Amino acid sequence: MGFQDQRSKEAFARANGVLPGGVNSPVRAFKSVGREPIFIAKGQGARLWDIDGNSYLDYVLSWGPLILGHAHPVVVEAIKAAAERGTSYGAPTEIETECAEEVIKAFPSMEMVRMVSSGTEATMSALRLARGVTGRNKIIKFEGCYHGHGDSLLIKAGSGALTFGVPTSPGVPSSVASQTIVAQYNDLEGLKEIFKECGEDIAAVILEPVTGNMGVVLPQPGFLAGLRTLTQDYGSLLIFDEVMTGFRVSYGGAQGRYQIDPDLTCLGKVIGGGLPVAAYGGKRKYMEQVAPSGPIYQAGTLSGNPLAMAAGLATLKLLQQEGVYEGLEEKTTRLAEGLQSIAQELGFPIWVNSVGAMFSAFFTDQPVIDFKSACSSDVERFGSFFRGMLERGIYLAPSQYEAVFLSTAHTDADIDYTLEQARDVLKSLG
Ligand code: PMP
Repeated sequence: MGFQDQRSKEAFARANGVLPGGVNSPVRAFKSVGREPIFIAKGQGARLWDIDGNSYLDYVLSWGPLILGHAHPVVVEAIKAAAERGTSYGAPTEIETECAEEVIKAFPSMEMVRMVSSGTEATMSALRLARGVTGRNKIIKFEGCYHGHGDSLLIKAGSGALTFGVPTSPGVPSSVASQTIVAQYNDLEGLKEIFKECGEDIAAVILEPVTGNMGVVLPQPGFLAGLRTLTQDYGSLLIFDEVMTGFRVSYGGAQGRYQIDPDLTCLGKVIGGGLPVAAYGGKRKYMEQVAPSGPIYQAGTLSGNPLAMAAGLATLKLLQQEGVYEGLEEKTTRLAEGLQSIAQELGFPIWVNSVGAMFSAFFTDQPVIDFKSACSSDVERFGSFFRGMLERGIYLAPSQYEAVFLSTAHTDADIDYTLEQARDVLKSLG
């Protein structure tokens, strides 16, 4: 039986009647890759099944959280056991402290942590904290970096906002947008100019230390260290948004890998093991300003939810096992390099950026080091590649400007199979 999508088509038509665009988050609608989305029935390990019965090797992994693959038995067991004791109390539990201690062990720059429920919440709260402690209003973000959909940050953003060409959404007040300065990733000189002009007004610089939301772009040597010095010189906070890179480019995130000590860090995705958890944290002197120990208000009915904490803690414990990150990186490199050499052999220009358990293959002949070079990609060709791979049972993120994620559940045989399919698809693109 070949690829079927009748049921997904029907499900999408029905969803469109009640959900804007048929989805609860824009990129899921597949808008930029020229086909309708598939509807998922279940996931197990590295595989997904849709409601038409097609099965896929999954390289999206719920956009990053599932670093152990779908329905890992230990994580499922932890969630079940927690659910039997009740799903939410709105009162303190010991597992919240335990989770926070694990995070702090992994990220020494984070001396205290506040758990929240989404990456958006984490970055919004970190910004409020930075503004509160500095008494300044302006922030700097980088073009193509996505930090969730908070008003201050939905400006020249990446991910779905980039794909849909609406980097600044209607509904963001211009008074808020005017407090956000947009800089170019990897351009330290440009940033120095901005600081010279208005450094005393900058509360914080926020960035994805390795970007994932314009596709994977790596920091050039000296960029992150330069940022650290510059922000220190002007009394601005440096916020690493490691929602995607935390526990993915290494257990200790990008800051562990590149040895940078930011003031605040945002985490999400992996930290919740597939349930809604995110966190922000950092230096004690700043975090102690958060309510109720300080005046900067932030709260959440379901923050530190016991099911979510159980899934997160089980995930972190499994990730601490010997050799996990070496294995993930080895497989990721093999897939990334394999794709590159197949593309080269077939005469396709392609540029690959890979780090830890994430990479992007850009359909361009230019080195991709920033937003502009990422935009040199041939998105039509990517769309054809995506559709070809999907119909051969390989589920990639439905946009050129996203990362490919690997999990511990992906095997060498899965990677070989993926490369074979990629060869066929690229050949057919001719
Ligand atoms: N920051 C980064 C770096 C992200 O990649 C994302 C989501 N992809 C977010 C923040 C927002 O997280 P959420 O979707 O959980 O709100």
